[in-house]
Amino acid sequence: MPLGVHTSIAGGISNSIDRIEDLGCDAMQIFARNPRSWSSRPIPKSEVDLFRAKRLKAGIWPVAIHTTYLINLCAPDTAVFDRSVALFKAELRTAEDLGADYLVTHLGSPFDMGTDFALKRIGSALKEALDSGLGKKTMILLENTAGSGYGFGSDLKDVGRIMDNAALDGLDIGFCLDTCHAFAAGYPMTGPGEVALLLETVDREAGLKRLKLIHLNDSKGGLNSRLDRHQHIGEGEIGLAGFKALLASPGVRQVPMILETPKKSEKDDPRNIRIVRRILGAR
Ligand SMILES: [Zn+2]
Ligand SMILES: [Zn+2]
Repeated sequence: MPLGVHTSIAGGISNSIDRIEDLGCDAMQIFARNPRSWSSRPIPKSEVDLFRAKRLKAGIWPVAIHTTYLINLCAPDTAVFDRSVALFKAELRTAEDLGADYLVTHLGSPFDMGTDFALKRIGSALKEALDSGLGKKTMILLENTAGSGYGFGSDLKDVGRIMDNAALDGLDIGFCLDTCHAFAAGYPMTGPGEVALLLETVDREAGLKRLKLIHLNDSKGGLNSRLDRHQHIGEGEIGLAGFKALLASPGVRQVPMILETPKKSEKDDPRNIRIVRRILGAR
């Protein structure tokens, strides 16, 4: 099972490959640009080429790009929606240029416009991306969210419906399960029974076959707290028993895992990786 971390692109996007190699990982996730900026400036070709060459040499799979946080694929405001779709398409283009396998995105917020509005809006955003010829080389993955405020996508059923609707338009979209977000949104996973039920739910609502990536994060907030606060593996409310149960589940055995755990010190990533490897070794 490939394991990696979300890492920085400071100093140039290809530097992220060096960081992943230093950590001894075989999978990775990055932001391709500042996650809090609307800028859609393309990455210089020399950097793109260097990234591709280093990635090939390092044998990293998969490479996931996480979209910027400003994108709101179900914004009720037309100007914000249009800007979001344009930036989403730019992100997808960049991901394809870089040879990324996945583009992970949150779904945004319809504010008080409700579920049907959100489903329609997101559907049209995805269709626009498809119609522009994108989304074939890099697969779009929808990430479940913690469900704070009006944030959309905390209910796995809604995520599944978007993928179903997109499939009708000929767009093959996958799912990225964030464990912290799922727990905060009310899906228990603290032991084998809870995890089995969670994976049954994932299969029924979204389809285990579409589960392409797992964001492995413990949760600072409790079950159904709606708090999007990641914690080190085993030190949060999900706890070691939950991760042991998840990593031992046959349904996720082949699914690549990315850690998005806190990075307060340089030792944090190596420690979380070590803990996950220890669990994987013991299963
Ligand atoms: Zn995310
Ligand atoms: Zn995540």
